Amino acid sequence: VVKSRGRNSYEFFDPTMEAKTLERILMENELRKAINQGHFDIYYQPKTDLATGKLTGMEALVRWIHPELGVIPPNRFIPIAEETGMIIELGEWILRQACRQNKEWQNEGFPPLKVSVNLSARQLHQKNLTEVIETILKETGLEPKWLELEITESILVKLDEAIDTLQAVRQSGVQISIDDFGTGYNSFSYIKHLPIDTIKIDSSFIQDIHQNQESQAIVKAIVTIAESLNLNVIAEGVELLDQVAALSENGCDQGQGYLFSKPLPTKDFKQYLQTVHHYGEKPIGIN
Ligand code: C2E
Ligand code: MG
Ligand code: MG
Ligand code: MG
Repeated sequence: VVKSRGRNSYEFFDPTMEAKTLERILMENELRKAINQGHFDIYYQPKTDLATGKLTGMEALVRWIHPELGVIPPNRFIPIAEETGMIIELGEWILRQACRQNKEWQNEGFPPLKVSVNLSARQLHQKNLTEVIETILKETGLEPKWLELEITESILVKLDEAIDTLQAVRQSGVQISIDDFGTGYNSFSYIKHLPIDTIKIDSSFIQDIHQNQESQAIVKAIVTIAESLNLNVIAEGVELLDQVAALSENGCDQGQGYLFSKPLPTKDFKQYLQTVHHYGEKPIGIN
């Protein structure tokens, strides 16, 4: 191993760096293979009305089903798909799959629900995004109002461009939600400029809301802003009934989290639809 701290030689011989690169190359190859062979699945997680326990929609969350390694979570591969551009192809598959599945549930007679699909930065800035979405909706027969796109604040760096795209998407009747809200340090300054329908409060404020005054104050402030801008609001990462109580007290009327259900594979989510349905008969938090 090289002892020299001379810039070039040190970097060149750093063994951990070399290993990382190799792992990264392997990962990219595996991901490419997985996309070609269709080794992905969509899980669905319910969104729930906190007062009634009724289902209000579901979020589509992608999983890589690796033949040897099993289920790989999105945090492990979405960033790589994003950097390599593979997210364009994968993201389109996810969108199509989620729309097709939602339409299928509607055809089977379940009361219609909105499906939310996460959109990455690269997708948002792809030139033909609106066409891609329109084509998928036409192809699957899903009405635009039953589709929502979730975007995070971090992908709004090119704000003007993003606003134009979001406006066009929204004009077609598809809804927009801002995910992980409150984590970016600019959250409050740009929110009024955004053509969106819903604010999704980041789980970091929900985690301790039942025992932390600051989190309560922040949630209350977000709810107040949402109301004044005529936006819906939903809390993510709800795990406890105490959190539901605190959310309700502060005016947040929708939630998503393990309390209601973990993200479920398609056929398990269908079962969830059959048992919980929309009717709110099932007390929240009972699985
Ligand atoms: P996100 O969109 O904010 O999704 C919420 C994440 O929190 C999901 O993790 C979900 O399983 C998890 N979660 C839900 N309820 C709870 C809870 O009560 N407690 C805890 N501790 N966690 C909860 P997941 O599925 O691993 O996804 C992680 C992130 O990966 C997502 O964050 C999203 O940014 C991204 N992602 C997932 N699916 C897609 C996709 O199809 N496309 C894109 N571009 N990104 C995706
Ligand atoms: Mg999301
Ligand atoms: Mg989120
Ligand atoms: Mg979050």
